[in-house]
Amino acid sequence: MSASKEKSADQPERRRYRPATECVFVDGTGVSDQYNASSVPIYQTATFKQASATEMGEYDYSRSGNPTRSNVESHLAKLMGATRAFAIASGMSALDVITRLVKSGEEIIAGNDLYGGTNRLLTFLKTHNNIVVHHIDTTNSETILPYLKAGKTKMVLLETPTNPLIKIADIPTISQHVHRVCPDALVVVDNTMMSPYLQRPLELGADITYHSGTKYLSGHHDLMAGVVGVKDNALAERIFFVINATGSALSPFDSFLLLRGVKTLSVRMETQQRNCQQIAEFLEAKGFKVRYPGLKSHPQYELHHRMALGSGAVLSFETGDVEKSEKVVESTKLWAISVSFGCVNSLISMPCRMSHASIPAHVRKERDLPEDLIRLCIGIEDVRDLIEDLENALRIAECIQ
Ligand SMILES: *Cc1c(COP(=O)(O)O)cnc(C)c1O
Repeated sequence: MSASKEKSADQPERRRYRPATECVFVDGTGVSDQYNASSVPIYQTATFKQASATEMGEYDYSRSGNPTRSNVESHLAKLMGATRAFAIASGMSALDVITRLVKSGEEIIAGNDLYGGTNRLLTFLKTHNNIVVHHIDTTNSETILPYLKAGKTKMVLLETPTNPLIKIADIPTISQHVHRVCPDALVVVDNTMMSPYLQRPLELGADITYHSGTKYLSGHHDLMAGVVGVKDNALAERIFFVINATGSALSPFDSFLLLRGVKTLSVRMETQQRNCQQIAEFLEAKGFKVRYPGLKSHPQYELHHRMALGSGAVLSFETGDVEKSEKVVESTKLWAISVSFGCVNSLISMPCRMSHASIPAHVRKERDLPEDLIRLCIGIEDVRDLIEDLENALRIAECIQ
C-alpha cells in the first residue's frame, strides 16, 4: 500500500497559481520530511521498516511507493491539472501501462502520425495481444466517427501537435465524439510535445494524459522517465494497480532528477519557443516549407492556439532533396545530430532516418512523411548563433545562395 494512494482524494481545494509559479513551487503536499529539507531528499531505499507486525507505515516497499516519487507525482499532478499522477520508468512504459487497460478483442483508435515507439508498441499489441488498432488522420475530427463502435472501442490515442509533421488534433471535439458514442472509451493524449506548461489535455476533455518525462519535463537529457495523469480516482486505482503489478515505477534518484528539472520548465520553455519562432520565421522567409504552429501559415494555427498557451519548440521543414537534407544535418556545428527533443541544447535530425525509422518505408509513404524532412528541436542558446550556424549549413548544402 502506498502513501501516494490515498493522498489527493480528500485534499482540500488548494489555490492555483499561474503556470510558471506552479512549476517552481513544491508545496509539500507530497510527503514532508522531518528536517524540512528545501530540496526533496532521495529516499534511496527499497524497503521501509514497520512499527510492528500489524501496523503498516505509510510506505513499505519502493515498487509500491517511495517518498521521493510521491513528491514528484503530486507536483506533476498539480501542473497537469490531474487528480493523480504517476511517475514511471519511461514514456513508453507510461503507454504500456495505459494500454494494459485494453483487453484482447477490443479496439484502439490512434492517430496516423505517431511517435515511432508508440507505433511500434501498438503494432506489438495488434500482433501479440489480438487488439484491433485503427490508424486515422486526426486533423479532421469527423474522420473518427465511422471507427467508433460502442462496446468495442476502448481507447482513442491522440498526439497534438504530432511529430514530425506538426499536425493538430482537436482534443475537445474528438473527446466529445468519443464520449457520446462510446461512454466507456478512454481518450488518451500524449502531451510530450507541449508539456503541461503549454497544454493540459485533461482540461480539454481527455481522460488520461501522459508525457515522456525524458523530454521537456526533465529538460537536460540526463534521465528517462514517463508521467501519467488522470482526473478520475477509480481510473487512477486501475493504473496504480498495473504499475505496482508490473514494477515500472520511477526510481528514487530519477524521481529526484525529474522534480529538479520540472522547476525550470517555464524558463526553458519560454526561451525555447521564442527561439523557435524566430528560426521558423527565418526559414519561411528563405522560402522553405516550414511546419510550426507559431506560423500563421500553419493550416491549423487557430485550433492549436485555442488549446495551447504557446507553440512549443519543435519544427520541421523540407529542402526538397534527401541528399541536401543529409548535408544540412551533417554541416551544422551547434546543432547536435540526435533523436529526442526538449533538451536545453538544440538538436537536428532526419526523422525518416532516425526517430521514425522503425516505421516501415511503405507506411511512411502512406502517411505522407517526406523522406527529406528535417526536424529542429530548439534549445536555449543565443538564437543568433543558432541561425548563423543553420544558415551556414544550408549554404554548404546548396539549399540557399
Ligand atoms: C520520446 C517520446 C515518447 C517515448 O518516451 P521515452 O521516454 O523515450 O520512452 C513518447 N511520445 C513522444 C511524443 C515522444 O516524443
